[in-house]
Amino acid sequence: MTARILLVDDIEGSRRILEAKLNAEYYQVSTAADGATALEIAARELPDIILLDVLMPGMDGLQVCRALKADAVLRHIPVVLLTALDSRESRLEGLEAGADEFLSKPIDDVILFARLRSLARLKVMIDELREREDTSRRMGMAPMPGARLGASGGRVLVVDDDPAQAQALAADLAAEHRPVVETDPEKALMSARGPIDLVVVNLLSRSFDPLRLVARLRSGDHSRQAPILAAVDFDLRDRVLKALDLGVNDLIGWPVDPLELRVRARALIRRKRYADYLRDTVAQSMELAVTDQLTGLNNRRYMMGQLDALLERSSAGGDPVSLLMLDIDHFKRVNDTWGHTLGDEVLREVAVRLASSVRAVDIPCRYGGEEFVVVMPATRLTDAARIAERIRSAISGEPFQVGDREIPVTVSLGVSASDGVEDRPESLLRRADEALYEAKAAGRNQVVIRPLRT
Ligand code: GH3
Ligand code: MG
Ligand code: MG
Repeated sequence: MTARILLVDDIEGSRRILEAKLNAEYYQVSTAADGATALEIAARELPDIILLDVLMPGMDGLQVCRALKADAVLRHIPVVLLTALDSRESRLEGLEAGADEFLSKPIDDVILFARLRSLARLKVMIDELREREDTSRRMGMAPMPGARLGASGGRVLVVDDDPAQAQALAADLAAEHRPVVETDPEKALMSARGPIDLVVVNLLSRSFDPLRLVARLRSGDHSRQAPILAAVDFDLRDRVLKALDLGVNDLIGWPVDPLELRVRARALIRRKRYADYLRDTVAQSMELAVTDQLTGLNNRRYMMGQLDALLERSSAGGDPVSLLMLDIDHFKRVNDTWGHTLGDEVLREVAVRLASSVRAVDIPCRYGGEEFVVVMPATRLTDAARIAERIRSAISGEPFQVGDREIPVTVSLGVSASDGVEDRPESLLRRADEALYEAKAAGRNQVVIRPLRT
C-alpha cells in the first residue's frame, strides 16, 4: 500500500537518505527542512503520514507535532517522531505531544516500513469513515458526537501468561481504565467477545503462542475493531515484524514503562472511540438516507437505486420489472378540512395499508408528498395490476380511523412494466405517471394499466 509522506528533517543528508529509501518503496515523498515549512506543506498537501525529526533549530519536532494535533483538519494525520535520543523522557514527551509513533535513529528500515504500512492502513480506514460522515453531515443527517469520545474508562483486556506480570500491567492501567486480566488465550478470546476498547498482550508469553492469539483477535467478529498493544522485546525483530503484519496497532518495549503504557493506551482508546463514533454515525445516516422519515417506507432515492439495478438485470435478459404509482385522491381537501397534522396521519395510514398489501420482495416507497411508488421485481404487468387493485381496495375499503374521526380515503393508481426495449427508470416512471393521470381523469379511485408497446 502506497502513501504520501511528508518528511521533516533539518539535516539535508539525513533527509536525502531517508527520502531515497522511501522512494524506493514507492512512497510519494515531500520534504521540509524546518517546522514552519512543514506545517505549511501539511496544510496544503494533506499527506497520509508525517515523519518528523525531533531535534530541529527554531520550532522543534514536538512543537510541530502539537501544532498538527491542535488543528482539526491535520489532527488525523499519523505522526512518526524520529530522534537520536532514545530516552524515556523524550519518548513520553513525544507521545504526550500526540505522536502516533516514535522511532529512534539510526532507523531500522524494515521496522520503519512495517510501521508505515500499518499507519497507512489505519489512515485509509479513518479517511473513508470521515468522508462518509462528512457527506451525511452535509446532508444534515449526522448526529452530534457523543460524550464517549474521551479516552478514559476503557475496558482493557490484558493477556499475559504470567499472572503476576498480568496483574502488574492491569494495576498500571486501573487508575484510568477498567482492566480485565486473562492468562489463558481461550479465555482471552471469550472476554474479547464483549465490548473491548483495547487489548494489551505480552508477546513474550511462553505457555501459548501470542501471535496466534493476535491473529485470532483480528479475525473475530467483535475483537476485530479493538486496537492491540503488544509488549515486545525489540531485539526479536522477526516477532516484532510479524506482529505488525498481523495487525498489532502499537508496540511497547519490555519491561513495560507504566507511564508509557498509560499514554499509549489513552491514544489507542481515543482513536478506537473516534472510529466507533464515525462507524455508528455512518450506519445511522445510511439508515436515514434510505428511509422516509414520516412513513418509515423506503425513500425515493433508495427506490431509484433499486429500480435502476433491477432494470439493468432485466434488460440483460432477466425478469420483467413492474412499477405502480399511487396518488391520494383530493388529499388537499383532507389538509384543508382537518389540518396538516391529521393529513400526516392519513399519509402514515396509507403507508401501512400499502406496505401490508404488497409482497416481501416488492419495494414500496414514498415518492414524495402524497405520492407513493411500488417497484415489483420479477413481476409481469397483469400480476402488477392485481397487486395495484389489492392496494386500492385495502385503502378505500374501510374509512381511516384518525383520532376520533373517520375519514374516507381513496387513491388512484397507474401501472407500467418494463418492455425490454426502453428500460430506464425514468421511462417506466413516466408511463406509470401517465396511467395515473388517466385514472384521475376517469374519476379517481381506480387502477389504470399502461399496456406494453408491441
Ligand atoms: P388529486 O386527487 O388530483 O391528486 O388531488 P390532490 O388534492 O390530492 O392533489 P394536489 O397535488 O393538488 O394536492 C396534494 C396535496 O398534498 C398538497 C399538499 O399540501 C399535500 N401534501 C404534500 N405533502 C404533504 C405532507 O407531507 N403532509 C401533508 N399533510 N400534506 C402534504
Ligand atoms: Mg399529487
Ligand atoms: Mg393527490
